This record gives sequence, structure tokens and C-alpha cells, in this order.
Amino acid sequence: MKAKYFVGVALLALVVFLSIQTDVSASHSWGNYHWERSSNPVALTINYNLDSNWTSYFGVAVNDWDSPSGGYSDVLSLSTMPNNTRTRQCKADSGKIQVCNDSYGNTGWLGVAGISVSGDHIQSAYVKLNDTYYNGTSYDTPAWRALVMCQEIGHAFGLDHQDENFNNANLGTCMDYTNNPNSNQHPNAHDYEELGIIYNHLDSGGGGGGTCRGRFCQGGVPANVDMGDPRQWGSVVETDGQGRPILFMRDFGNGNKFFTHIYPVPDGPRS
Ligand SMILES: [Zn+2]
Ligand SMILES: [Zn+2]
Repeated sequence: MKAKYFVGVALLALVVFLSIQTDVSASHSWGNYHWERSSNPVALTINYNLDSNWTSYFGVAVNDWDSPSGGYSDVLSLSTMPNNTRTRQCKADSGKIQVCNDSYGNTGWLGVAGISVSGDHIQSAYVKLNDTYYNGTSYDTPAWRALVMCQEIGHAFGLDHQDENFNNANLGTCMDYTNNPNSNQHPNAHDYEELGIIYNHLDSGGGGGGTCRGRFCQGGVPANVDMGDPRQWGSVVETDGQGRPILFMRDFGNGNKFFTHIYPVPDGPRS
């Protein structure tokens, strides 16, 4: 009897432990947003219009996200295609991710990821890297380029930050805000685990792209709205510990929303 009781208690403890683990694991997607697909891996095309200062970091980040090593879930199948889209707007085609660099001005951000969603499904995403800062002395380093490239592309898959405190110890993932990028240049095991959770279920439709819905054919955003323009980003829904905006949301109704994730310039102005 005693042995049976012990086994029961041990099982209960295990169940409690596992459910706590699951809670922790599920903590860094920024909603339930994901690319619609009916089987895994999700096939995504990442278009890019980047100059030679950025292409190597883009290649490393795509490879990192595409090929998790060490036996973690492999839910993304990424391909890349250069194009010559206007970098200032950096508009993504429906069902695609677009990555651009340009001198976007003293915006307060090193990089942004803009993502349109319809319901739970990501329709399109763009990533911008801001040369106004990268051309200066503070951020023109391989580590800063690698971290922000990796993080903004990570957002485009539905991932959130693992940590939003710039001043604590690095977690060893590009999904961690920091003032010192050296050990945060790549995803870590927990990012791949989180992708596995986000893409664990299958959808009935999709197949690596957004679904075209009437006037929201352009990835959930009305055709006449330029979501590359910060004035169109909508309201601040999240700030960091220093009060700087890190997430904006614009709601177009009927489940069509646009989110903009920010990597604030660490020594930039406080809002
Ligand atoms: Zn789904
Ligand atoms: Zn971010």
C-alpha cells in the first residue's frame, strides 16, 4: 500500500512539474499568432533587399532559424529571394516576409518587425534595419547587426522576447533585449522549443502563406495604408522597463490587425 501511495504522489508531482514547465515554455509567443499551414514544416519565403553590410547577417539568421540543431522541433522550412522592393516602405507580399535596410532616421529603433494578422494567422511580415544608427560608431558591430537581424526575423514567425530587461544577464538568445549583444546573437534551445509549441497544431488551410480576404488582400491591411510608416502603427500596447514603446498595434476590425515590434536604441531617447 505504501509503495502504491508513493507512486501516486510521485506521478502527481510529475504532472504538476510538467504543467509548470509547459507554462514556462509557452511564455514567449506574442499571442497565438502563426502562419497558417495544413502540414509541417511551414514553407516560408523571405524576400530581401539588403546591401552588402547586411547580407551575411541575414544569411546566418535565416540559417539559424531554418536549421535547429540538437534534436529540437524543425517546423520552419525557409527559402530566400532577393528583390528590389522600396526599402523605405519595405512592403511584404501577402504570405511572405520582406527584409530591408535603409537610413530610416533618428527613429529611436535599431530594427522593427511589422506583422499583419487575420484572426490567429500571420498574413505577411516585414523587417527593417535602421542604418541611421548602424552607420554610427556605437552599433556598427557584428554583434549588434546579428542580434537585431535575428530577433526581428524571429518575431515574424510569432515569437516574442524571452526577456525585456536590458540590464540583466544575457540569456544567450537573440530574443533577449540587452545593452551588450555579444552572447545574444543566435536563437537558443528554448526558441526552437517555443516554435514547436506554436506550430504544434495543424490548420485546415494555408500551406505557407496568408489567405487573401477581400479588401484585406494585402496581408490584412487595407491597400491604401502604408504600415512601413510609423504614423500608421496605431497605439502602444507594451513598453519596456524604461518606458520606451516596444510593441504597437493597429486594429482594422474583423480580426485584421497589424503589430509592430521595436528594438529600442539602448542609449536612445526615453519617451
Ligand atoms: Zn492555426
Ligand atoms: Zn523584439
